[in-house]
Amino acid sequence: MTEAAPFNSSTAFCAKCGSILPLMEEFGTVECYTCKSVYDPVAFGNIKFNYTIHFNAISSINTDNVLNLDNPEGPVVERKCPKCGNDKMSYATLQLRSADEGQTVFYTCISCKYKETENS
Ligand SMILES: [Zn+2]
Ligand SMILES: [Zn+2]
Repeated sequence: MTEAAPFNSSTAFCAKCGSILPLMEEFGTVECYTCKSVYDPVAFGNIKFNYTIHFNAISSINTDNVLNLDNPEGPVVERKCPKCGNDKMSYATLQLRSADEGQTVFYTCISCKYKETENS
């Protein structure tokens, strides 16, 4: 392991964009808020202990944008299921591409769980 870690003893900076990295979870990766580079906690090595001191400052990492397609609990809209004819489907949106290219809407039949997607 000869690659120099991009961190000093007290503060971690993103190696790509130079932003200060968020504090790490105990078991998990750290994602740069600015450029979305993801760092494995192993990269922090022996400075990990320093970070546990400030752990409470960032106890919650936002995972709301992670869509779980197997657990469709989104809002329900009136939309006819093409498979079973039920007229209620739940939907969730996911930004799959860059921000200016719209988003994909996932519809899930609340009756038979049939899924379909629609690009907006
Ligand atoms: Zn960065
Ligand atoms: Zn259905």
